[in-house]
Amino acid sequence: MDAAGRFLARTRFGTRESNSPQATIVRIIEAIRAIEGETAQPIQAIGIGCTGPVDPLTGVIGAVDLLPGWQGTPLVEILAEAFHVPAAIENDADAGALGEWQLWRDDRFLFVSVGTGIGAGLILNGTISRGVDGSHPELGHHTIDASGPPCYCGARGCWESLASGTAMARHFGEGATPAEEIFARARRGDAEARQAVERQAYYLGLGVANLMTILCPGRIVLGGGVLESADLLMDGIQTVIQNQCGLVPTHRMDVAVSKLGSDAVLAGAARLAVNAWQQQEAS
Ligand SMILES: [Zn+2]
Repeated sequence: MDAAGRFLARTRFGTRESNSPQATIVRIIEAIRAIEGETAQPIQAIGIGCTGPVDPLTGVIGAVDLLPGWQGTPLVEILAEAFHVPAAIENDADAGALGEWQLWRDDRFLFVSVGTGIGAGLILNGTISRGVDGSHPELGHHTIDASGPPCYCGARGCWESLASGTAMARHFGEGATPAEEIFARARRGDAEARQAVERQAYYLGLGVANLMTILCPGRIVLGGGVLESADLLMDGIQTVIQNQCGLVPTHRMDVAVSKLGSDAVLAGAARLAVNAWQQQEAS
């Protein structure tokens, strides 16, 4: 991506076949070199959006479930040294939030990504809002129903356990029909699937309503794979918000659907790179 936010080239590869961090890092470096060749432009900075926990202050990967063996890997330092450029990393929900924020620019901006899990990032005055020691507040894991299903976060009935695409599929049964298949069936008029979509909108709405009451953002943007069927969900979500948020000015809080879709994290990572480059130039 260039400094104006235009995508110049893209590439992708899976990480499963090369599980070790060392082998994967070699592939990442090769991929970046290939991009340099393709665009005939030297890389000037590197931004990374990664499933958490990651430490944005040190650039070190934490105990990420999906990346066994990576804990303690100083990915930012490794890539910065390999290319002699500044680099930065954020939790993918925060990167997605930053990417999407660039298109909206609200002072209090909340991004929620609903896919296999639920991740969310809050952008205040253009800056990612962090917790203590740079930690990432896990808004997708606040409890909605204490008698709900157990989650790996330790809670029962947290938002992710009830309203993620995975939760939707699990609840539907029939050998865990994927969420997109449930939406497709609902579109064809399948009564059971329609009920599942209604339930999904309800639980999504509860979490959104809680965040509106707690944070009063000027805008909430909903993204991720599940929101590709936003047309089937938004009315239900709005109904819950109207029923739940009696004490805050919901008419001043716009709830919108992501404009970037699956490119949000990529766009945010590119913004991190630009920020890292600007910081280096300024120092
Ligand atoms: Zn949870």
